[in-house]
Amino acid sequence: MKPVGTGALFENNAKSEFLRLTGSRYDGMKVRNEKKKLPPLPFTKEQFRTHVLHNMRGNYDGAINCRYCHKVCTLQEVAADHEMPLSRGGGSGLENIGFPCADCNAQKGSMTPAEFVTLLACLERMPFARIDVLKRLQQSVKLAASVRRSIMLSKRPKEKKNEEEEPF
Ligand SMILES: [Zn+2]
Repeated sequence: MKPVGTGALFENNAKSEFLRLTGSRYDGMKVRNEKKKLPPLPFTKEQFRTHVLHNMRGNYDGAINCRYCHKVCTLQEVAADHEMPLSRGGGSGLENIGFPCADCNAQKGSMTPAEFVTLLACLERMPFARIDVLKRLQQSVKLAASVRRSIMLSKRPKEKKNEEEEPF
């Protein structure tokens, strides 16, 4: 089998995989908004797909560069992230949705892009601390998410357990 993310997949396969992944991601966001009683997504599934495809430079099997660590990722390896967090006044429209790698997404938490980029640049000068700090950040963001989830579940015990938020 040809590796994904290299543009080497047969076009039809790449397109159907793209449609499957973007469709399930969109549906997941929609359900999450409903559960959190947030306003409905201000874009359609087709508009979301166009936005993702644009970030893949129009190639269904294209790569997405993480804007923070510059890692070259496949669609499966990135998260859909509110670049400016909603909690910090970011909008819920497509213009605020970026596709960082799953690691950077977990480390960024509710930092703004400028804050996270500044932190990464600062840590570049401390290679030993860098690994430790990023690992701790990632763990604390995951921990905070799981605490929020268990609080929500304890308030609504009959509801089906939420799925872990996953990258594509
Ligand atoms: Zn990254």
